[in-house]
Amino acid sequence: MTETHKTKVLIIGSGPAGYTAAIYAARANLEPILVTGMDQGGQLMITTDVENYPGFAKPVQGPWLMEQMRLQAEHVGARIINDYVIDIDVSERPFKAKGDSGDVYSGETLIISTGAKARWLGIPSEETYKGRGVSACATCDGFFFRDKDVAIIGGGNSAVEEALFLTNFCNSVTMIHRRDELRAEKIMQKRIFENGKINVLWNKTVEEILGDNSGMTGLKLKDTQSGEISTIDKDGVFVAIGHKPETDLVKDVLDIDKEGYLVTAPDSTATNIPGVFAAGDVADNKYRQAVTAAAMGCMAALEADRFLSIQK
Ligand code: NAP
Repeated sequence: MTETHKTKVLIIGSGPAGYTAAIYAARANLEPILVTGMDQGGQLMITTDVENYPGFAKPVQGPWLMEQMRLQAEHVGARIINDYVIDIDVSERPFKAKGDSGDVYSGETLIISTGAKARWLGIPSEETYKGRGVSACATCDGFFFRDKDVAIIGGGNSAVEEALFLTNFCNSVTMIHRRDELRAEKIMQKRIFENGKINVLWNKTVEEILGDNSGMTGLKLKDTQSGEISTIDKDGVFVAIGHKPETDLVKDVLDIDKEGYLVTAPDSTATNIPGVFAAGDVADNKYRQAVTAAAMGCMAALEADRFLSIQK
Protein backbone atom coordinates (compact mmCIF):
# COMPACT_ATOMS: atom_id res chain seq x y z
CA MET A 1 0.00 0.00 0.00
CA THR A 2 1.33 3.42 -0.89
CA GLU A 3 1.98 5.99 1.82
CA THR A 4 2.39 9.74 2.17
CA HIS A 5 5.43 10.76 4.21
CA LYS A 6 5.34 14.28 5.66
CA THR A 7 8.32 16.28 6.82
CA LYS A 8 9.51 19.81 7.42
CA VAL A 9 12.59 19.22 5.25
CA LEU A 10 12.47 16.89 2.27
CA ILE A 11 15.88 16.12 0.79
CA ILE A 12 16.27 14.47 -2.59
CA GLY A 13 19.62 12.84 -3.35
CA SER A 14 22.13 10.92 -1.26
CA GLY A 15 25.55 12.36 -2.05
CA PRO A 16 27.63 14.45 0.38
CA ALA A 17 25.26 17.44 -0.08
CA GLY A 18 22.10 15.45 0.74
CA TYR A 19 23.56 13.61 3.74
CA THR A 20 25.08 16.78 5.19
CA ALA A 21 21.76 18.60 4.78
CA ALA A 22 20.09 15.66 6.56
CA ILE A 23 22.60 15.78 9.44
CA TYR A 24 22.11 19.52 9.99
CA ALA A 25 18.33 19.41 9.58
CA ALA A 26 18.03 16.46 11.98
CA ARG A 27 20.16 18.23 14.60
CA ALA A 28 17.84 21.26 14.26
CA ASN A 29 14.90 18.95 15.18
CA LEU A 30 13.37 19.32 11.72
CA GLU A 31 12.95 15.52 11.34
CA PRO A 32 14.12 15.46 7.71
CA ILE A 33 13.36 12.75 5.21
CA LEU A 34 16.03 11.99 2.61
CA VAL A 35 15.01 10.06 -0.51
CA THR A 36 18.14 8.38 -1.81
CA GLY A 37 17.62 8.04 -5.56
CA MET A 38 18.81 5.17 -7.72
CA ASP A 39 22.59 5.58 -7.36
CA GLN A 40 22.64 5.76 -3.59
CA GLY A 41 25.74 7.61 -2.36
CA GLY A 42 26.34 9.53 -5.58
CA GLN A 43 29.58 9.92 -7.48
CA LEU A 44 31.81 8.88 -4.56
CA MET A 45 30.43 5.35 -4.91
CA ILE A 46 32.48 4.95 -8.08
CA THR A 47 35.65 6.39 -6.55
CA THR A 48 38.25 4.27 -4.82
CA ASP A 49 40.80 6.12 -2.67
CA VAL A 50 39.64 9.47 -1.31
CA GLU A 51 42.40 11.46 0.29
CA ASN A 52 41.19 15.04 -0.06
CA TYR A 53 38.14 14.82 2.23
CA PRO A 54 39.34 16.34 5.51
CA GLY A 55 39.29 14.33 8.71
CA PHE A 56 41.12 11.18 7.64
CA ALA A 57 44.89 10.93 7.90
CA LYS A 58 44.97 7.98 5.49
CA PRO A 59 42.99 7.50 2.26
CA VAL A 60 39.46 6.16 2.70
CA GLN A 61 37.30 4.39 0.15
CA GLY A 62 34.54 6.44 -1.49
CA PRO A 63 31.75 3.89 -0.79
CA TRP A 64 32.90 3.59 2.85
CA LEU A 65 32.80 7.38 3.26
CA MET A 66 29.25 7.51 1.91
CA GLU A 67 28.18 4.67 4.21
CA GLN A 68 29.56 6.65 7.16
CA MET A 69 27.63 9.75 6.06
CA ARG A 70 24.43 7.72 5.83
CA LEU A 71 24.98 6.17 9.27
CA GLN A 72 25.78 9.59 10.74
CA ALA A 73 22.59 11.07 9.28
CA GLU A 74 20.54 8.16 10.68
CA HIS A 75 22.31 8.39 14.04
CA VAL A 76 21.19 12.00 14.50
CA GLY A 77 17.62 11.17 13.53
CA ALA A 78 17.22 11.66 9.77
CA ARG A 79 14.90 9.22 8.02
CA ILE A 80 16.54 7.76 4.92
CA ILE A 81 14.20 6.14 2.41
CA ASN A 82 15.39 4.10 -0.56
CA ASP A 83 13.20 5.32 -3.37
CA TYR A 84 13.63 7.05 -6.71
CA VAL A 85 11.73 10.30 -7.23
CA ILE A 86 9.94 10.35 -10.57
CA ASP A 87 7.96 13.58 -10.23
CA ILE A 88 8.26 16.80 -8.24
CA ASP A 89 5.51 19.39 -7.73
CA VAL A 90 6.74 22.76 -6.44
CA SER A 91 3.67 24.74 -7.52
CA GLU A 92 2.51 25.11 -3.90
CA ARG A 93 3.64 24.34 -0.35
CA PRO A 94 3.99 21.74 0.99
CA PHE A 95 6.05 20.58 -1.97
CA LYS A 96 5.39 17.08 -3.25
CA ALA A 97 7.63 14.40 -4.68
CA LYS A 98 6.35 11.13 -6.05
CA GLY A 99 8.50 8.02 -5.67
CA ASP A 100 8.87 5.11 -8.06
CA SER A 101 7.42 2.99 -5.23
CA GLY A 102 4.15 4.95 -5.47
CA ASP A 103 4.78 6.68 -2.13
CA VAL A 104 4.42 10.46 -1.93
CA TYR A 105 6.83 12.69 0.00
CA SER A 106 5.53 16.01 1.24
CA GLY A 107 7.96 18.67 2.46
CA GLU A 108 7.40 22.13 3.89
CA THR A 109 10.80 22.86 2.41
CA LEU A 110 12.68 21.00 -0.30
CA ILE A 111 16.42 20.51 -0.76
CA ILE A 112 17.45 19.27 -4.18
CA SER A 113 20.81 17.53 -4.06
CA THR A 114 20.53 15.19 -7.01
CA GLY A 115 24.13 15.75 -8.16
CA ALA A 116 25.68 15.54 -11.58
CA LYS A 117 27.19 12.80 -13.64
CA ALA A 118 30.41 12.97 -15.59
CA ARG A 119 29.89 12.44 -19.29
CA TRP A 120 31.75 9.38 -20.53
CA LEU A 121 32.84 8.37 -24.02
CA GLY A 122 30.45 5.41 -23.98
CA ILE A 123 32.83 2.82 -25.45
CA PRO A 124 32.88 -0.67 -23.85
CA SER A 125 36.62 -0.63 -22.97
CA GLU A 126 36.04 2.51 -20.89
CA GLU A 127 33.93 0.41 -18.47
CA THR A 128 36.59 -2.31 -18.41
CA TYR A 129 39.31 0.05 -17.17
CA LYS A 130 37.32 2.50 -15.01
CA GLY A 131 39.29 2.87 -11.78
CA ARG A 132 42.19 0.96 -13.41
CA GLY A 133 43.60 3.84 -15.41
CA VAL A 134 40.38 5.47 -16.61
CA SER A 135 39.03 8.37 -14.53
CA ALA A 136 36.76 11.37 -14.98
CA CYS A 137 38.27 13.41 -12.15
CA ALA A 138 41.86 14.64 -12.25
CA THR A 139 41.49 16.41 -8.90
CA CYS A 140 40.47 13.10 -7.29
CA ASP A 141 42.79 10.66 -9.03
CA GLY A 142 45.67 12.66 -10.56
CA PHE A 143 47.86 12.09 -7.54
CA PHE A 144 47.94 8.35 -8.27
CA PHE A 145 49.68 9.01 -11.60
CA ARG A 146 52.88 10.51 -10.22
CA ASP A 147 55.66 10.40 -12.87
CA LYS A 148 53.33 8.63 -15.31
CA ASP A 149 52.33 9.47 -18.87
CA VAL A 150 48.63 10.25 -19.12
CA ALA A 151 46.11 11.45 -21.68
CA ILE A 152 43.13 13.73 -21.27
CA ILE A 153 40.13 13.74 -23.58
CA GLY A 154 38.28 16.98 -24.35
CA GLY A 155 38.96 20.52 -25.47
CA GLY A 156 36.93 22.62 -23.02
CA ASN A 157 37.93 24.56 -19.92
CA SER A 158 37.68 21.44 -17.73
CA ALA A 159 40.08 19.47 -19.94
CA VAL A 160 42.57 22.34 -20.00
CA GLU A 161 42.29 22.98 -16.27
CA GLU A 162 42.70 19.27 -15.50
CA ALA A 163 45.64 18.95 -17.92
CA LEU A 164 47.40 21.81 -16.14
CA PHE A 165 46.62 20.25 -12.76
CA LEU A 166 48.00 16.88 -13.88
CA THR A 167 51.36 18.44 -14.80
CA ASN A 168 51.91 18.82 -11.03
CA PHE A 169 52.40 15.04 -10.81
CA CYS A 170 52.64 13.46 -14.22
CA ASN A 171 55.64 13.06 -16.44
CA SER A 172 53.63 14.08 -19.53
CA VAL A 173 50.05 14.99 -20.39
CA THR A 174 48.66 14.44 -23.88
CA MET A 175 45.41 16.23 -24.69
CA ILE A 176 43.30 14.46 -27.27
CA HIS A 177 40.73 16.60 -28.99
CA ARG A 178 38.26 15.72 -31.73
CA ARG A 179 38.68 19.03 -33.58
CA ASP A 180 41.60 21.28 -34.61
CA GLU A 181 40.68 24.05 -32.19
CA LEU A 182 40.07 24.05 -28.44
CA ARG A 183 36.77 25.23 -26.99
CA ALA A 184 38.53 26.49 -23.82
CA GLU A 185 39.02 30.20 -23.19
CA LYS A 186 42.05 31.72 -24.94
CA ILE A 187 43.84 32.54 -21.71
CA MET A 188 43.55 28.88 -20.65
CA GLN A 189 44.77 27.73 -24.05
CA LYS A 190 47.84 29.95 -23.74
CA ARG A 191 48.78 28.18 -20.51
CA ILE A 192 48.53 24.81 -22.25
CA PHE A 193 50.69 25.82 -25.17
CA GLU A 194 53.32 27.35 -22.88
CA ASN A 195 53.52 24.26 -20.66
CA GLY A 196 56.37 21.98 -21.72
CA LYS A 197 54.72 18.88 -20.24
CA ILE A 198 51.55 19.15 -22.35
CA ASN A 199 51.14 18.27 -26.00
CA VAL A 200 47.91 18.19 -28.00
CA LEU A 201 46.83 15.59 -30.53
CA TRP A 202 44.32 17.27 -32.84
CA ASN A 203 41.43 15.72 -34.76
CA LYS A 204 41.50 12.46 -32.86
CA THR A 205 38.81 10.38 -31.22
CA VAL A 206 39.32 7.40 -28.92
CA GLU A 207 38.30 4.15 -30.57
CA GLU A 208 39.35 1.89 -27.74
CA ILE A 209 41.15 1.88 -24.41
CA LEU A 210 43.83 -0.79 -24.51
CA GLY A 211 45.03 -2.73 -21.50
CA ASP A 212 45.82 -6.01 -19.80
CA ASN A 213 45.34 -7.54 -16.36
CA SER A 214 47.34 -4.74 -14.74
CA GLY A 215 45.00 -2.04 -16.10
CA MET A 216 45.02 0.26 -19.09
CA THR A 217 48.16 0.51 -21.15
CA GLY A 218 47.27 2.74 -24.08
CA LEU A 219 44.74 4.16 -26.49
CA LYS A 220 43.65 3.35 -30.00
CA LEU A 221 42.89 6.61 -31.79
CA LYS A 222 41.16 7.51 -35.04
CA ASP A 223 42.00 10.60 -37.04
CA THR A 224 38.74 12.43 -37.79
CA GLN A 225 40.13 13.81 -41.09
CA SER A 226 41.98 10.86 -42.62
CA GLY A 227 40.35 7.98 -40.73
CA GLU A 228 43.84 6.71 -39.91
CA ILE A 229 44.11 4.49 -36.81
CA SER A 230 47.05 4.83 -34.45
CA THR A 231 47.94 3.63 -30.96
CA ILE A 232 49.75 5.39 -28.12
CA ASP A 233 51.06 4.05 -24.82
CA LYS A 234 49.54 5.71 -21.72
CA ASP A 235 49.33 4.81 -18.04
CA GLY A 236 46.06 6.65 -17.53
CA VAL A 237 43.33 8.58 -19.30
CA PHE A 238 41.09 11.31 -17.91
CA VAL A 239 37.78 11.88 -19.64
CA ALA A 240 36.89 15.58 -19.41
CA ILE A 241 34.07 16.01 -21.89
CA GLY A 242 31.63 17.75 -19.52
CA HIS A 243 29.12 16.92 -16.80
CA LYS A 244 25.37 16.55 -16.82
CA PRO A 245 23.55 17.93 -13.77
CA GLU A 246 20.56 15.83 -12.71
CA THR A 247 17.86 18.44 -13.19
CA ASP A 248 15.37 16.64 -15.44
CA LEU A 249 12.64 16.67 -12.77
CA VAL A 250 12.78 20.40 -12.09
CA LYS A 251 14.32 22.09 -15.12
CA ASP A 252 10.95 23.41 -16.31
CA VAL A 253 10.02 24.99 -12.98
CA LEU A 254 13.32 26.08 -11.43
CA ASP A 255 15.81 28.49 -13.01
CA ILE A 256 18.72 26.75 -14.70
CA ASP A 257 21.79 28.24 -16.36
CA LYS A 258 22.87 27.64 -19.94
CA GLU A 259 24.75 24.48 -18.90
CA GLY A 260 21.65 23.08 -17.16
CA TYR A 261 22.77 23.69 -13.55
CA LEU A 262 20.25 24.99 -10.98
CA VAL A 263 20.68 28.68 -10.31
CA THR A 264 20.90 29.80 -6.68
CA ALA A 265 21.00 33.29 -5.15
CA PRO A 266 24.52 34.65 -4.51
CA ASP A 267 26.11 33.17 -1.35
CA SER A 268 22.98 31.08 -0.84
CA THR A 269 21.36 27.79 -1.85
CA ALA A 270 17.96 29.46 -2.42
CA THR A 271 16.40 28.79 -5.83
CA ASN A 272 13.81 31.00 -7.52
CA ILE A 273 11.02 29.27 -5.56
CA PRO A 274 10.92 30.29 -1.87
CA GLY A 275 11.45 27.22 0.31
CA VAL A 276 13.23 25.23 -2.41
CA PHE A 277 17.02 24.98 -2.02
CA ALA A 278 19.69 23.39 -4.20
CA ALA A 279 22.96 21.99 -2.91
CA GLY A 280 25.97 20.19 -4.34
CA ASP A 281 26.94 19.42 -7.92
CA VAL A 282 23.40 19.95 -9.23
CA ALA A 283 23.99 23.66 -8.59
CA ASP A 284 27.79 23.83 -8.83
CA ASN A 285 29.55 24.01 -12.14
CA LYS A 286 32.72 25.34 -10.62
CA TYR A 287 34.15 23.29 -7.74
CA ARG A 288 32.37 19.91 -7.92
CA GLN A 289 34.12 18.49 -4.86
CA ALA A 290 32.65 16.30 -2.12
CA VAL A 291 33.69 18.83 0.50
CA THR A 292 32.09 21.77 -1.32
CA ALA A 293 28.92 19.71 -1.87
CA ALA A 294 28.83 18.90 1.86
CA ALA A 295 29.26 22.59 2.66
CA MET A 296 26.35 23.49 0.38
CA GLY A 297 24.24 20.81 2.06
CA CYS A 298 24.94 22.44 5.42
CA MET A 299 23.99 25.86 4.01
CA ALA A 300 20.75 24.48 2.54
CA ALA A 301 19.67 22.95 5.88
CA LEU A 302 20.44 26.17 7.77
CA GLU A 303 18.55 28.20 5.17
CA ALA A 304 15.58 25.79 5.30
CA ASP A 305 15.52 26.15 9.09
CA ARG A 306 15.55 29.95 8.81
CA PHE A 307 12.84 29.86 6.13
CA LEU A 308 10.58 27.73 8.35
CA SER A 309 11.07 29.96 11.38
CA ILE A 310 10.02 33.02 9.35
CA GLN A 311 6.85 31.23 8.19
CA LYS A 312 5.65 30.65 11.77
P1 NAP B 1 32.55 21.79 -22.34
O1 NAP B 1 32.90 23.21 -22.36
O2 NAP B 1 31.20 21.37 -22.82
O3 NAP B 1 33.66 21.04 -23.19
C1 NAP B 1 33.55 19.67 -23.46
C2 NAP B 1 34.68 19.30 -24.41
O4 NAP B 1 34.63 17.91 -24.61
C3 NAP B 1 34.57 19.99 -25.78
O5 NAP B 1 35.84 20.35 -26.24
C4 NAP B 1 33.97 18.89 -26.65
O6 NAP B 1 34.43 18.92 -27.98
C5 NAP B 1 34.53 17.64 -26.01
N1 NAP B 1 33.62 16.51 -26.18
C6 NAP B 1 32.29 16.45 -25.86
N2 NAP B 1 31.81 15.22 -26.12
C7 NAP B 1 32.86 14.50 -26.61
C8 NAP B 1 33.00 13.16 -27.06
N3 NAP B 1 31.98 12.30 -27.04
N4 NAP B 1 34.21 12.76 -27.50
C9 NAP B 1 35.26 13.61 -27.52
N5 NAP B 1 35.20 14.89 -27.10
C10 NAP B 1 34.00 15.33 -26.65
O7 NAP B 1 32.67 21.13 -20.87
P2 NAP B 1 33.64 21.54 -19.68
O8 NAP B 1 35.01 21.73 -20.16
O9 NAP B 1 33.39 20.53 -18.60
O10 NAP B 1 33.06 22.91 -19.19
C11 NAP B 1 31.69 23.03 -18.81
C12 NAP B 1 31.43 24.47 -18.44
O11 NAP B 1 32.12 24.77 -17.25
C13 NAP B 1 31.90 25.48 -19.48
O12 NAP B 1 31.02 26.55 -19.52
C14 NAP B 1 33.23 25.91 -18.96
O13 NAP B 1 33.61 27.20 -19.39
C15 NAP B 1 32.98 25.88 -17.46
N6 NAP B 1 34.24 25.69 -16.74
C16 NAP B 1 34.91 26.80 -16.36
C17 NAP B 1 36.11 26.70 -15.73
C18 NAP B 1 36.84 27.93 -15.32
O14 NAP B 1 36.38 29.01 -15.66
N7 NAP B 1 37.95 27.84 -14.63
C19 NAP B 1 36.67 25.43 -15.48
C20 NAP B 1 35.97 24.30 -15.89
C21 NAP B 1 34.75 24.46 -16.54
P3 NAP B 1 33.98 20.10 -28.98
O15 NAP B 1 34.78 21.30 -28.57
O16 NAP B 1 34.35 19.58 -30.31
O17 NAP B 1 32.51 20.25 -28.79
